[in-house]
Amino acid sequence: MSSRSRKARAKFTLAPVEQTHEDRTLVNAWVPDYGKQCENCGETPVVTGVAGGRVVYHGSLCGACSWGDSACSDPANW
Ligand SMILES: [Zn+2]
Repeated sequence: MSSRSRKARAKFTLAPVEQTHEDRTLVNAWVPDYGKQCENCGETPVVTGVAGGRVVYHGSLCGACSWGDSACSDPANW
């Protein structure tokens, strides 16, 4: 019961839409990083943003948590 309410609160404080909207303007491609686990839910891979062949965004969240859409847990949808 308590773990469920903690998860709901963490999700509420994320504000993923505004954050990724700004990041998106800098990033050419989103690539999965299987070496890290999502800080929020523990899933892999986490989202990494690449521009001009360099990593410009080191995500700490998986696709589903970054975009708030469970379909985004699959890197094929990024
Ligand atoms: Zn996650």
